[in-house]
Amino acid sequence: MANNLVIRALKANSKSFNLSSKKMTEVPKSVARLTNILTLHLNNNSLTSLPVELQTLRNLTELNLGNNSLEEIPSVLRYLNTLKKLYLFGNHITRLPPEVLEGFDNLTLLNLNHNHITVLPPEIKSLSNLETLSLLDNQLEELPVEIGFLKKMVEMNLSNNKLSRLPKQIYSLSQLARLYLARNNLTELPEGVIGLMKLRVLDVAGNRLSMFPVDFQLLTLNELLCEGNTFVKNKLMESVQAVEVLSLKELSARRILVEDKSRLGVVHRALSYHPGLSLLLADWGRCSLCLQPFLTTWLECVRFINLRKDMKMSRPQTVPVRVLLCSYKCFNKSGHSYYGVASV
Ligand SMILES: [Zn+2]
Repeated sequence: MANNLVIRALKANSKSFNLSSKKMTEVPKSVARLTNILTLHLNNNSLTSLPVELQTLRNLTELNLGNNSLEEIPSVLRYLNTLKKLYLFGNHITRLPPEVLEGFDNLTLLNLNHNHITVLPPEIKSLSNLETLSLLDNQLEELPVEIGFLKKMVEMNLSNNKLSRLPKQIYSLSQLARLYLARNNLTELPEGVIGLMKLRVLDVAGNRLSMFPVDFQLLTLNELLCEGNTFVKNKLMESVQAVEVLSLKELSARRILVEDKSRLGVVHRALSYHPGLSLLLADWGRCSLCLQPFLTTWLECVRFINLRKDMKMSRPQTVPVRVLLCSYKCFNKSGHSYYGVASV
């Protein structure tokens, strides 16, 4: 029957060919004759592989292989580098072979929802035109730092995985508008969230977040889903603390960081000859009160942000956002609304 459909499509010079829900266990090789088709639907069958003959489909831009029995991405796909949209949801895929990913440089959409993928290889960076990546309901425990190379990404769905942390390179995705991270094991989001200035929808519901990262309130979100986390509660702690003694390393680092602000100064020029020291100083922070830089010693506080009042969102919900202070001296100043985080 499938062969008759191929003959009919050939006669009609069809641009699209549909073999979905045909109870097929394999694709008839005659499909390889449809060299002019742009779209091929093979979803809702029982396919375990694709015939290598399909490499003749050199105009194919969209391929739907959803809801089949594939255990790996068929290797013939690496020859179909005109593909822009690839649907592989609802299969039994456990890994993404690097050599196949390298042929996907024109993909704008990759849907791998409902598979068993545990790792994204570093070669994911080959997908440099990707705008939508969907990995809902897989087994991912972490993301590679190379995710930061996917600069055109607009929507990423990583909900229902096992992620316990994210690389800060995720904030290099400056076009990202929608990020779904619900039902993972995240205990925190990395610092630097201000890199996602185009983010409008963030779903972090069902994780273990205690607070949001520094400057979270500066994002222009339309929607934030954050139910089911373990946010710190708004409880006062003793506000006057003894003044701490900073280490010589910390004192020197703070002095160098202040001096380094002058781009023409001796310290700034000297640092270029000491890459090890520059690297050590790279993770500096700035006190939210006195605005002075510090290296590793800080006091972690939270402020409570009202989503409606402070972020112009529709819900009046209050969420904790991390604030870093340089010292108890700053914390003890009056006039701020930062709360110390009591360690329980
Ligand atoms: Zn300070």
